[in-house]
Amino acid sequence: MLKGFAWIISVGNELLIGRVVNTNAAWLAAKLTYLGYAVRRIIVVPDEENEIVEAFRDAMARSDVVVSTGGLGPTPDDITNLAFCKALGVEAEVNEEALRMVREKYESRGYPMTPEREKMAKMPPGAVPLPNPVGTAPGILYQRGDKVVVLLPGVPREMEAIFENSVEPLLKSRGPPVYFSEKVVVVRGVPEADVAPILKEVVKIDPRLYVKSHPKGYEVDAPLLHIHIYASAGREEEAQGIVKKAAERLVELLKSRPGAEVSTS
Ligand code: ATP
Repeated sequence: MLKGFAWIISVGNELLIGRVVNTNAAWLAAKLTYLGYAVRRIIVVPDEENEIVEAFRDAMARSDVVVSTGGLGPTPDDITNLAFCKALGVEAEVNEEALRMVREKYESRGYPMTPEREKMAKMPPGAVPLPNPVGTAPGILYQRGDKVVVLLPGVPREMEAIFENSVEPLLKSRGPPVYFSEKVVVVRGVPEADVAPILKEVVKIDPRLYVKSHPKGYEVDAPLLHIHIYASAGREEEAQGIVKKAAERLVELLKSRPGAEVSTS
């Protein structure tokens, strides 16, 4: 049960030199998954126009929802909004509402408006600015047909606030409701290679299941696996029911292995 595909674009040189860990992408991937989207790509691109343009074009061609983070600020290397306009083949324009949001933030603290600050109000015609309750740069929402593109700032607190206030309600209301359920089964004493055929058996229970083992110990000397079982469905009880059934079957199959110690969370 899926609402569609999503791509996440993380913009920023600091991510590519290993100075900043891409926590934004992990946070967004979890949110989008729970909202019923299959995240198909997380792309990290430098603060370079051509790279950002290409990422948006690819993402819009191949997914239903695109969320980018980073590059919305006032400095010259913040160009995501302008590169997005280029990807669409349109001229960036100053959005009056966005300009009001940016002006209010600065002028209320005694700072004048400057061209750099005005740049944060630029977006494609028809886009909607999303209020940033924490920082200065508004997010940007652009919808074309069934596709949704959202540009968010890089600062995690700002990105999260805008997503939760403005984007999550919109994505929730699109398409049929999707509920997500998850369970973790922990097994000691069985190597991952031997668990693989068991997982294959378990996923046959329902096509809406996704089962993945995460090794936490040492494959041969002290195998320890966390097996995550996920399912999404149109009703909450349905998703929970699928996961419960899969977990029960998994535990049963694992317990039949000599030396296996199994627990469920
Ligand atoms: P600002 O308006 O503050 O300039 P911005 O949209 O221009 O925001 P960036 O300049 O790209 O955002 O990033 C600001 C800071 O946010 C970075 O220095 C980094 O600490 C953090 N950040 C950026 N991208 C990510 C990310 N993907 N994951 C975690 N932190 C990030």
